[in-house]
Amino acid sequence: MTELLHMKNNYEKRFEAKIIEVLENGVVLDRSAFYPLKGGVQNDIGMLVINGKKFIVTKVSETNGKVIHTLDKMDGIKEGMETHGEIDWNRRYKLMRLHTASHLLEAMMHKKTNCLIGSGKVSIDGSYMGFTIEEMNRPLIEQAVSDANKLIEQGAEVIITFVEREKALLDSNMIKLASKLPPLVKKLRVVEI
Ligand SMILES: [Zn+2]
Repeated sequence: MTELLHMKNNYEKRFEAKIIEVLENGVVLDRSAFYPLKGGVQNDIGMLVINGKKFIVTKVSETNGKVIHTLDKMDGIKEGMETHGEIDWNRRYKLMRLHTASHLLEAMMHKKTNCLIGSGKVSIDGSYMGFTIEEMNRPLIEQAVSDANKLIEQGAEVIITFVEREKALLDSNMIKLASKLPPLVKKLRVVEI
């Protein structure tokens, strides 16, 4: 398992870690600040310094709780080596802002129409969201966008808390999402705006 540093502090740009598994074209670390591709949000990229050498992290994914950092080369990397990691902060910060903005817009749409959120994608080239609404209503969507922008301009606070899966299943506001999550997810990271 990789300890996900971004769960506790999503402003962590640099970190120290140990290589716990060497794969054909990547490594698994004991802890990582890199955000893997998940939940429709694009992964981080960046670099790892191992044995004084710089390796480019070209892709980050997650399987069974392990974060896999795909590297541009594998020269002499061995299990147990220490590494210093750095994420591409400009890219991550843009993704973070887009991600928060997309949830804010979802909340505004839900408030107005009680709609369900169909699908969504947050990526560096642009993001989209799908809403299930009875009929297309452009003024309503524009109003939701302007409401969301107003909240952002006011500098609404973003509060992060953690809720146990069992507790979330008892909360009418969270049950829909919580019941869809895979059982491996024991704790939910709740973002309140
Ligand atoms: Zn999200």
